[in-house]
Amino acid sequence: MTSGTIPELAYPPRITPFTKTFWDGLREGRFSTTRCRQCSHMTFPPKPVCPECWSKDVEWVELSGRGVLRSYTEVTAAPSMFAAEAPYILCLVDLDEGIRCLSRVIADWGELVPDKRVRVQVREAEPAYLFDFVLDEGGN
Ligand SMILES: [Zn+2]
Repeated sequence: MTSGTIPELAYPPRITPFTKTFWDGLREGRFSTTRCRQCSHMTFPPKPVCPECWSKDVEWVELSGRGVLRSYTEVTAAPSMFAAEAPYILCLVDLDEGIRCLSRVIADWGELVPDKRVRVQVREAEPAYLFDFVLDEGGN
């Protein structure tokens, strides 16, 4: 299902029966991942098997989408599939739940400072909504 106003992704994520829960959640405004029911370990991206104890007994949990900017870099020479979107800024964020996340941050370079508070912002696109981080203005 496409709409004329929602951009079509040149390099869409691969949606599997497992990851569909994540992508459907994002479309509904939920940022989620998996947590192991055996050892409580959370991972991002979501995984069907716990990387700590190898249990397949995992559950979906909703994340706050808030965290701290740990590192970032501007991509000016992007891979061909992302060339039209360059320059863009990739970031590493440590979510408040204690897991690390790689994504983009939508901000001017000059606004970025390590340890700044950031939050997830859903980006409408097809065939899947994506997420970026933005500065969490109320968070510092
Ligand atoms: Zn586990």
